Amino acid sequence: MHRHPTAVGLRLALLGWLLLSASHAAAAEKASEGKARIRILATGGTIAGAQTRQEDSAYKAGALDVEQLIAAVPSLKQLASLGGEQVANIGSQDMNDAVWLKLARRINALLATPDVDGIVVTHGTDTMEETAYFLNLVIRSDKPVVLVGAMRPATALGADGPANLYNAVAVATHPGARGRGVLVVMNDEVHAARNVIKTNTTNVKSFESPNRGAAGLVHTGKVTWFEPVDTKHTHRSELSLEKVEKLPRVDILYAHANMSADLLEAAVKSGARGLVIAGVGNGNMSQQALEVLARAVKQGVAVVRSTRLMSGLVLRNSEVDDDKLGFVASGELNPAKSRVLLQLALTRTKDPAQLQRYFQEY
Ligand code: GLU
Repeated sequence: MHRHPTAVGLRLALLGWLLLSASHAAAAEKASEGKARIRILATGGTIAGAQTRQEDSAYKAGALDVEQLIAAVPSLKQLASLGGEQVANIGSQDMNDAVWLKLARRINALLATPDVDGIVVTHGTDTMEETAYFLNLVIRSDKPVVLVGAMRPATALGADGPANLYNAVAVATHPGARGRGVLVVMNDEVHAARNVIKTNTTNVKSFESPNRGAAGLVHTGKVTWFEPVDTKHTHRSELSLEKVEKLPRVDILYAHANMSADLLEAAVKSGARGLVIAGVGNGNMSQQALEVLARAVKQGVAVVRSTRLMSGLVLRNSEVDDDKLGFVASGELNPAKSRVLLQLALTRTKDPAQLQRYFQEY
């Protein structure tokens, strides 16, 4: 019996199409085969910023979404199998506790599954060091978590975002990133969340770790590692967000010549549970300020002495008698990072000795 020639042709065409789409699917599977599965969580910032005119310094942070960020760097697909999520789309000057809790919980949930090997968070640079350190304290995984941003908007001449994003994904896929705690990738450098600070308002070379130096280098996706940090973080952190609905209010006050104590009193009256002083020199401040803070400690407010300087340690009992006054010395942590640690530590204890231990160990 002869089949109808058209029916045979149709069957052959269908078979061909099935084989072709199967081979496309196989090719796509092969392309992502063995590649790390990286989730990019976007929060906004200059990396997602756009200008109306390239000659203007004015731009809008958080104008592009996560899919546009990924699409701008097609070669990312060669590094990893990627998925994107938009957690927020804000300038990081508006970063707040609610977004931190949402971001941290989402990262913990993703990393707890076997389907995600690492996370890249795109973020504004202004408060990136705070978010990175916050995540460093509350993420319960040794899988890589890398924050990345840009000093120039996506539309700028010489935009740094695409290269930074490429390097961040490369770091997140690198076996050496595992167990190092949360990392920040900017301008061909890798930094530990605990050590890194923003040091320049506009220059692409803004992120530095003044006390300890960078955690590594990354150039065109190739990574070189330096010594890992010896402080506790991520999978070794005892701080966590379990049972934490809201973080306590902690304010930072800046010390200077002729410092009065009115603003310290106002902060306590406004409900601050902790105060961080961006002190002069080795975490110092005026006599008036010391007296008001000593009274605040007696009322149950935690006081941390940090420094307004860029580097060096704030040493316990050096110029200020912390033992007598019940203060905590911030050690290596600058005011912004001290505030993050104090917020989390206060969910556990108000005891100055215990708080001091957190500042030594984390
Ligand atoms: N203020 C904005 C932010 O932090 C822009 C700074 C930046 O991302 O470089 O999101």
